[in-house]
Amino acid sequence: MPLLYPFRIGLEFFFSKRDWVLEMQEKQRNSFREEPQPGSEEIESMRSEAKRILPPRLAELAERYSFKYNQVRIKHNVSNWGSCSRKGNINLNLNLVRLPEELRDYVLLHELCHLRHPDHGPDFHSLLESVCPDHRKKEKELRKFRIF
Ligand SMILES: [Zn+2]
Repeated sequence: MPLLYPFRIGLEFFFSKRDWVLEMQEKQRNSFREEPQPGSEEIESMRSEAKRILPPRLAELAERYSFKYNQVRIKHNVSNWGSCSRKGNINLNLNLVRLPEELRDYVLLHELCHLRHPDHGPDFHSLLESVCPDHRKKEKELRKFRIF
């Protein structure tokens, strides 16, 4: 109901369109349940955006903190934001373009740290701490975002 609109008029509107309103509410509830998936067009535009911005940013951060990686690839999966292989290749999820810049950087730094420490042990965490002091907060914030 629009703001500053008399409540009575809103109610009258509701009762005159009651079935329609209830139907729309039900539809909305269903769509929340199903969580709408992006179309292939949306994925492709995210992919080209990702290819444009992620590799240069990774190179920049690697340069700044003296990390050396082999190749960077843009991937699409729903299981992780990024990964790092034993051969020093970094995979970045195209969904990263949907994140705020600082969280995106956090994921990139996290993967760069895996170049030296493949696990999530204490050495990994102290290295991550040195390049991203508020990484715990970032990790927490990151959980609010869904990969699709
Ligand atoms: Zn990790």
